[in-house]
Amino acid sequence: MRKYRVGILGATGTVGQRFAQLLENHPQFEITAMAASDRSAGKPYSEACAWKLPGTIPENVRDIIVTPIEPPLDCDLVFSSLPSSVARETEETFARAGYPVISNSSSYRMDEDVPLLIAEINPDHVGLIEKQRANRGFAKGFIVTNPNCAVVSFAPPLAALHRKYGVEEVIVTTMQAISGAGYPGVASMDIMDNVFPYIAGEEPKVEIEAQKILGTFANGAIENADFTVSAQCFRVNVLDGHTASVRVNLKENSTLEGVVEAMRSFPSLDLHSSPKNFIEVTDEPTRPQPRLDRDNGDGMTITVGRVFPDNIYDYRFVALSHNTVRGAAGSAVLNAELLVSKGLI
Ligand code: NAP
Repeated sequence: MRKYRVGILGATGTVGQRFAQLLENHPQFEITAMAASDRSAGKPYSEACAWKLPGTIPENVRDIIVTPIEPPLDCDLVFSSLPSSVARETEETFARAGYPVISNSSSYRMDEDVPLLIAEINPDHVGLIEKQRANRGFAKGFIVTNPNCAVVSFAPPLAALHRKYGVEEVIVTTMQAISGAGYPGVASMDIMDNVFPYIAGEEPKVEIEAQKILGTFANGAIENADFTVSAQCFRVNVLDGHTASVRVNLKENSTLEGVVEAMRSFPSLDLHSSPKNFIEVTDEPTRPQPRLDRDNGDGMTITVGRVFPDNIYDYRFVALSHNTVRGAAGSAVLNAELLVSKGLI
C-alpha cells in the first residue's frame, strides 16, 4: 500500500496532537511536516508542543522541526487544524499550491463548492471538487472540510431518520466538552462548578451545517435538506465528548422500533479508520455518558440513547461523540482515506 506524506497545519494544538496520535501507525499516511505559529516555528515538535494526551509524544514526530504555515511543505497533502482567523487565507494558499487540504476549520464549510463531509453520510459530495477547481483555478489542490464538532454528534442519527422518514424540524441542546475550545481554552474559574451558556459563534454553525451534509448532490451542486434546526450550545465541565439532546419531528409516519432500527442499521464504511458501528444505540437508561462512551469505536462511533416518543415533538434522543476524534482529527483522517479510495488523492 502506498504511503502518502502528510503535513499538519496547527500541529501543536489540541486537534493537531490528535492527528499526531492517530497517524502514528497509520498504514496510508505518514507525517513528514508540522506547521504552527511563529511561537513554535523553528523548534522540534517535542519542544514546541505542550503535549496533553495520554502517553508521550509519538517517536516519529518528536524531532520534526515545526515550520511556518506556508507552502512548500514536504508532503503530499495537508490536514488543517488552524483557527478560523488564519485558516481561510492559509488553506486557499495551500490548495492553490497544489495540496489537497482536509480541514477542521469552519472557514470553508458552507462555501457552495466545498464538500462538508461525514464520510459515511455524504461521500458523493466529493463530486464538488471538480467544480471547486474550476471556480477557483486550483490546478491540482482542493479543500474538503469536516463539520463542527457538535454537529458531528447529532447529524448521523438525523441522517438515518432523514433517509427513512424525512426530517422536518429539530431542536438541539449541546453540552460541549472543554477540549472543544482548544488549549488552554476556557478559564478554569469559568468552567469549574459551572455550566457556561455561550460558545462564541457556535449556535449559527450548529443550525445550518447538518442541512448541507444531508443535502442532495446533483448537477454539480448541493441542494440542502429543507429542515430547520434550533440550537442552544453550552460548555460543560467535561474534558472530551460532546453530548446533544435532540427533539425531532419527522415528515412521514414512523414507529419507535423503526426509528431505532434506522439508526442501528446505518452502515459504516470499510476504511482503515471506520468503526465497526457508525451509530451505536444503547437501551441502557443512564447512557450515553461522555466519560463512559466517548471512546466507543476508538472514538469514531456515535452513541445514541434515551430514544423515546416525545410529548411535543415526534421523538427525543441523546447523541454523543468524541469531539477531537470523530469531531475533528479522526473524521479528517477518515475523509482522507475516502479521498484516496476514490482516487482523488
Ligand atoms: P488550539 O489548541 O488553540 O490550537 C491551534 C493551533 O493553531 C496551534 O497549533 C497553534 O500554534 C496554531 N495557530 C494559532 N494561531 C496561529 C497563527 N496565527 N498562525 C499559525 N498558526 C497558528 O485549537 P484546536 O482546538 O486544535 O482547534 C483548531 C481548529 O480546529 C479550530 O479551527 C477549531 O475550531 C477546529 N476544531 C476544533 C475541535 C476541538 O474539539 N478542539 C473540533 C473540531 C474543530 P501555536 O501552538 O504555535 O500557537
